[in-house]
Amino acid sequence: MISLKTDEEIELMRVANLMVGATLAEVAKNIKTGVTTRQLDKLAETYILDNKGVPLFKGYNGFPNALCISVNEVVVHGIPSDYQLKDGDIVSVDCGVKINGYCGDSAYTFAVGEVDPKVRKLLQTTKESLYVGIAAAVEGKRIGDISHAIQTYCQSRGFTVVRDLVGHGIGTEMHEEPEVPNFGTKGSGPLLKSGMCIAIEPMINLGKKKVQFDKKDGWTVRAADRRPSAHYEHTIAIRPEGADILSSFELIEKVVGANPCGLPK
Ligand code: MG
Ligand code: MG
Repeated sequence: MISLKTDEEIELMRVANLMVGATLAEVAKNIKTGVTTRQLDKLAETYILDNKGVPLFKGYNGFPNALCISVNEVVVHGIPSDYQLKDGDIVSVDCGVKINGYCGDSAYTFAVGEVDPKVRKLLQTTKESLYVGIAAAVEGKRIGDISHAIQTYCQSRGFTVVRDLVGHGIGTEMHEEPEVPNFGTKGSGPLLKSGMCIAIEPMINLGKKKVQFDKKDGWTVRAADRRPSAHYEHTIAIRPEGADILSSFELIEKVVGANPCGLPK
């Protein structure tokens, strides 16, 4: 069942999502060569707890950390480790927070130092496709309209769309109905109604679309061809006047700049 949120609930979700954005901005300040992904995770967890939030990912189906940190060919669900970021890496940081009973979920892919122009185009296209998907999230349209918009935008620019992972409804639980694929057919899927809250999260590959799930750690999802992959995510509410973006990249982009998608100085 797809739940529709009241105006009050949507405001509570905005609080959770703005905390996610603020946490990602704290992470952004510390993304540089030599920092370990574990250090980034630790500072995010501390920030969330200091602000009375609950790190939503920690303990979710046994996930060990507050952040999913996915470097280069890792698509999503990377586990923070002693890996030190280096010049030319891209790093997707996905964060979830629960506060006052409601969830926030948002992700941003950062460039570390000088990144290959093709990879930078991947980042830019993936972030733009998120907003293309959001623009299609109109009351009376269907989930497939969002999916189709993202797929068309990315494929026309020469990139591929991961099929095995999708966006999702969100509310008092991080993962609610419906699924929000980044590929699909116009006019298909559940009807978009005012009060629906969904996380839209394109996962886009530079090479082929196939991914592999790490059997050893049970979490890490990699591009099968080991080429770079990007991921951006916003939580939005469907409203009569158009999508209301509940999460925000504003604080992140105060740190890294908006173009081309976050290049730390
Ligand atoms: Mg997420
Ligand atoms: Mg999500």
